[in-house]
Amino acid sequence: MATRSYDHKEIEAKAQEKWSASDLYKADVSDSSDAPYYLLVEFPYPSGDLHLGHWYAFAVPDIYARVLRMQGKNVLFPIGFDAFGLPAENAAIKRGLDPKKWTYDNMDVMRTQLRRMGASFDWSKEVVTCKSDYYRWTQWLFTKLYEHDLAYRANASVKWCPKDKTVLANEQVANGFCERCGTEVEEKHLTQWFLRIAKYADRLLEDLNELPWREDIKDAQRAWIGKSTGAYLSFKISSVEERLRVFTTRPDTIFGVTYVVVAPEHPLVKKLIGAGSLNNTKEVQDYLIKTEKKTERERSENKGKTGVVLEGITATHPSTGEDIPVYVADYVIGSYGTGAVMAVPAHDERDFAFANVHVLPIKTVIQETDNDVLPMTRAGKLVNSGPFSGRDSAEAQSDMISAVGGERATQYRLRDWLISRQRYWGCPIPIVYDPQGNPHAIGEEHLPWELPDDIDFAPTGKSPLATSVELKERTERIFGKGWTPECDTFDTFVDSSWYFLRYLDPKNESSFSNEVAMKKWLPIDRYSGGSEHTTMHLLYARFFHKALYDLGLVPTKEPFHERFNRGLIMGPDGHKMSKSKGNVVNPDDFVEKYGADAVRIYLAFIGPYNEAGSYPWNLDGVKSMRRFLERVYALEEKVTDAPEQEETVEMLSQTATKVSEDAQRFKFNTAVSALMIALRALEEDTFVAKESYLTFLKLLAPFAPHFAEHLWGKFGQEGSIHSVRWPRRAGAPAPARTIVAVQINGKRRGEISLPADASEDTAFAGASEIPFVSQALKDGKPKRIIYIPGRIINLVL
Ligand SMILES: [Zn+2]
Repeated sequence: MATRSYDHKEIEAKAQEKWSASDLYKADVSDSSDAPYYLLVEFPYPSGDLHLGHWYAFAVPDIYARVLRMQGKNVLFPIGFDAFGLPAENAAIKRGLDPKKWTYDNMDVMRTQLRRMGASFDWSKEVVTCKSDYYRWTQWLFTKLYEHDLAYRANASVKWCPKDKTVLANEQVANGFCERCGTEVEEKHLTQWFLRIAKYADRLLEDLNELPWREDIKDAQRAWIGKSTGAYLSFKISSVEERLRVFTTRPDTIFGVTYVVVAPEHPLVKKLIGAGSLNNTKEVQDYLIKTEKKTERERSENKGKTGVVLEGITATHPSTGEDIPVYVADYVIGSYGTGAVMAVPAHDERDFAFANVHVLPIKTVIQETDNDVLPMTRAGKLVNSGPFSGRDSAEAQSDMISAVGGERATQYRLRDWLISRQRYWGCPIPIVYDPQGNPHAIGEEHLPWELPDDIDFAPTGKSPLATSVELKERTERIFGKGWTPECDTFDTFVDSSWYFLRYLDPKNESSFSNEVAMKKWLPIDRYSGGSEHTTMHLLYARFFHKALYDLGLVPTKEPFHERFNRGLIMGPDGHKMSKSKGNVVNPDDFVEKYGADAVRIYLAFIGPYNEAGSYPWNLDGVKSMRRFLERVYALEEKVTDAPEQEETVEMLSQTATKVSEDAQRFKFNTAVSALMIALRALEEDTFVAKESYLTFLKLLAPFAPHFAEHLWGKFGQEGSIHSVRWPRRAGAPAPARTIVAVQINGKRRGEISLPADASEDTAFAGASEIPFVSQALKDGKPKRIIYIPGRIINLVL
């Protein structure tokens, strides 16, 4: 195949200059045309270096933004910076840099890098969360939540990262470790600010049902919210006037309860020790001390099934009146449910294991109707259950709850969102305290409540803002002698919970957004981001939006209509990229050598974008995409002024439909494969009509925007190729196309899009475009080709 080299640096610089001079990607949000499309990507943290993950996050959705514009949509595709956060502050601590300057310098670097990618962002809408014209409104929205009792201050047991020296939200703790730095978290009792996300648990669940999201994304949110239905039952404790409340999801197994367990932090334990009711106080106290050293994860695993019986007291079984033992065991966590459980060893695996170690009775109360296997959590026929024996366990549940005076209840795993952080580089919490220590929201007239800059950064575990003399003086000057400022800052997830509203009117000084624009542009049509945000940012933003909806501040109950989570790009060795493994791919090297367009196409081609997959980076991948573009360039020599051939018109029109449908579903990989097949067809012709060549360039333009722009101008075309209309098909509908899996020696290496009746030669040619395949075929032809049209092509080497 003929190829022709080109100077990508010159082509890219010229195109970028042209676009920016003509404001090509600026969306008019007040435009009354009826085709608005809001395409959102998660805005980046300004780390100062654009890695491959950023390219994947921004350059690939950009293809869709470009297709939509060519199809006549008024596309809003904005960008900004999630600019508060720890790295800036850590740079200040380690290297004595000013966090503000560090952040602003990094944003400058990243703006240049993002432009180099050829992404068609509307920079006129830029939002920067650390600027006071933005955080003024973060503060204002918080005060609205506070006025409506959706924000509150409470003393609670919280997770503390000893390395980052700040508290964390539950969402930022993964298996007992700090999600950002990997340090084991500690528990502390502190007075902190919370948002009432738990109050929204049911709506966050129910409204998921109507969203057209991938089920796995919805399931992850459902699991995090963790709704379980069951009942509260209570057990009378001897020697103290107290009933022990437990939550159970299986009240129908009540007759199988042979002991109860309380968490070490349960108030009953302290009370019994204090009242001198226990015969083994020392043993219990030793156990409490041992438990304190364990993490929550170690506790819930409870490998040793440890626990101590509380000697001297018993619980009364509410159905049988029998006395049963009470244990303290750390596999029960104080903050879950009531901090106490009824144990049913015959029907719960953890209780069963514990009962075996501590030699406790095991009483079967449910039998499966069709066999006699011990049922672990299933429903079935009740046995050994007094008056309920013989009934179906699910059907009898209600009666069983009433019989013991219990109450039906629903429980959630989701806890209120802890938003205070003991750090400097964040949005100041707009609260001041009167001399009696009561909190007051700072009035609108004093917003923005500026972040002070006379700060001692050295982390001490106390909020750095407490070292500011200016902040202290400002508070007393405005509010009076003896008034003090809140010294914590917001979790940065508060900043990012509403940034997409600000894009609609980023310079508005009288409102956080624009009412008319919100009505027109919300909910966001499609939001593309990383799967790591499913149970953090994505959940917080949904909650925040619902709260604003209830206050009449936004017009929709959900912020995002579609949500797409992209797959992961792995290192060339198939492992997650990490400096320690030495498998990190630097996109700049590839951009330098092969150009931004070749990198973009390779990222589009590497795998289906909207799937939970992971794709290894092939070192020859970008090179082979560059070769593809060089073939397009070489084809120029065959272009004539002759009229288009009917066959070619039909072929390109089918390709246009395919590319646009695939782009719509974010299946850019098969869209690229359709372009490759179209190129091959054009190459096989003896000449190519200029119109056909231009049509092909239009289809290629969203993928290789600089390259297509260059050839468009070279052929004397006016304006930008990115503002022309997408080729529309005339006449009969295109024949069906199918996705064919490509295998080498039976191992899946990619997929291609082919007409349903494609020949083996066409299929082989399509498969050969995949970098893994072309690499494997370097040393010769396959021994055998197994081709099943519409399904598979397997190359045996
Ligand atoms: Zn940490």
